Amino acid sequence: MSQESLFELQRLDTETEVLNHRRVNLEQRAALEVALAEQAEHQLQIDAVGAARVEVATRQRRHEDEAQIVATKVEADEARLYGGEVQGVKDLEALQHEIASLRTRQSGFEDQAIEAMEEAEELATRIAALEAARADVDSRIAVLTSEITVAEAEIDAEVEQASAGRAAAAAETTPELVAEYQSLRPGFGAATVVRFDGNNCAGCPSIMPAMEVDRMKREASGSILNCRECGRIVLR
Ligand SMILES: [Zn+2]
Repeated sequence: MSQESLFELQRLDTETEVLNHRRVNLEQRAALEVALAEQAEHQLQIDAVGAARVEVATRQRRHEDEAQIVATKVEADEARLYGGEVQGVKDLEALQHEIASLRTRQSGFEDQAIEAMEEAEELATRIAALEAARADVDSRIAVLTSEITVAEAEIDAEVEQASAGRAAAAAETTPELVAEYQSLRPGFGAATVVRFDGNNCAGCPSIMPAMEVDRMKREASGSILNCRECGRIVLR
């Protein structure tokens, strides 16, 4: 059994904690979250503008249909006007008047249809711009995701290596000591096992009492002790 193996075990546990912390807090994760939020926002806008475009296209078709109906009436009236079935001057005038007013209505509908068409074109341009922006975000997301995968794999390999090293270190000490160390680790963290420097326990926050120093000094070099002052495992 080697004293150093307990230190090595503690060092590897600390290293694993650092690695796990780094894995969870990869800077790409924060960037990915921002990019995903942006992507969702872009999608919302694309959907909203897309819905507006459908509405505008429906309106355009309705106005075109209305214009067509009126145009058909104009054609029928003109056929009657030039067909000779209407004879009286008053009737002819009335018919001409009706045709004129129908033509006004027709061009009104046609103007509305053109207006809707222009609106639809504007919306299509906006959608194209939004889709381009979303494509940018999509590729950023793809890059970040693959960077995260690579970083995770690297960290996982290091964790695995640390874990193998830990198992080897644990095998060189005793199960009782490992169990004691593990029960103390949550409270003392990376400084659960400390050294006795000849005058003091390296873990004690203040100077070790003289009696405790004497007690440790009397122990054989290489023994594993418990500091009665701070409770850490002390390697003499
Ligand atoms: Zn101590």
